[in-house]
Amino acid sequence: MRLPYVEIDVLAVERNARAVVELCAAAGIEVAGVTKAVFGHPEVATAMLRGGVTSIGESRLDNIARLRAGGVDAPVMLIRPPSLAGVAEAVDEVALSLQSDLMLLERMGAAAVAAGRVHDVILMVDLGERREGVLPDDLPGFAGEAAALPGIRVVGIGTNLACFAGLIPTVDNMNRLVELAEDVERACGLELAWISAGSSSALPLLAAGAMPARVNHLRIGEAILLGRETVHHRPWPGTVQDAVVLRAEVVESKDKPAPPPGPRADRTFMHAPSPGVAGGRCALVALGRADVDTEGLTPLDAGHRVLGAASDYLVVDVGDATDPVAVGDVVTYALDYSALVTAMASIGVGTHVVEGRQTGRCTGW
Ligand SMILES: *Cc1c(COP(=O)(O)O)cnc(C)c1O
Repeated sequence: MRLPYVEIDVLAVERNARAVVELCAAAGIEVAGVTKAVFGHPEVATAMLRGGVTSIGESRLDNIARLRAGGVDAPVMLIRPPSLAGVAEAVDEVALSLQSDLMLLERMGAAAVAAGRVHDVILMVDLGERREGVLPDDLPGFAGEAAALPGIRVVGIGTNLACFAGLIPTVDNMNRLVELAEDVERACGLELAWISAGSSSALPLLAAGAMPARVNHLRIGEAILLGRETVHHRPWPGTVQDAVVLRAEVVESKDKPAPPPGPRADRTFMHAPSPGVAGGRCALVALGRADVDTEGLTPLDAGHRVLGAASDYLVVDVGDATDPVAVGDVVTYALDYSALVTAMASIGVGTHVVEGRQTGRCTGW
């Protein structure tokens, strides 16, 4: 397998999904497994489904096409509105989407009618996060108009927190969400099947036993893929954090002196002269900013320390490495969400699926 590549252990993804699903099930909550960070990788979705998620959440139609082509026939929910050009495809591909705009809903409804279908929607409300959603005061009116559209059935309301403004899910804002759902039910004479309260950031509140009883749905990506909740980025109980790792190859390993004194240029990616690089044992890894958000990498090899990155190289201090580092060695990194998404999006980085880890290199994590 050509390096660098993202290695996904689908058995670990399945275990992580099961840990999240079991916790949620105990609180009466169903989980959609969100695959957008792995661009709808079908084997990852399948692993999530084996772990007990009841549907897949995807933000992009291309990723949904990849899921379907890869044999995933579970329900898929579209978690970002489609572009206008994608409305008909969206209605064909998914039975349920998250929505926050009336004009788009009219288009979705018209496309659904034309296709002889009814399209289910969860209406998103913005509780202050300044991401998707109508404002709380506008929700009952919006829901009434949406519910009256031919081809559209309003089946729930939802929200998304800890993503842009960074609001943390709390008892107060979750109770507010439930109140809003009940306002909508009263004002529009609807019964809402779903209150979809958020993402991996909702897990700490849930684990504390503080999620209101009517919340019955979450959309979870990061906690399943990376084994972390997203408020404090702490490892999530019962999950592993190395289900997804990035492997790359050492292409130089030498003792190097500190740079000589003299004027320094702004460096390509750092917009400031180097603050002073010490000498020492230094490995160059064939992995750079053109491949991945290098700020989001954590070495899993003992004693490795990333000093910085250019477009094609990571510069790694290996002076304290437990094992000698030689050209051709494979080094392994854990990924944060940004590193995961950028690596998966990169044409320079492959994807390799394994079922359990054969090598012992990253077991110390
Ligand atoms: C990405 C996304 C999620 C999943 O977020 P994680 O932090 O990966 O759990 C949930 N809902 C929406 C609307 C999203 O865009």
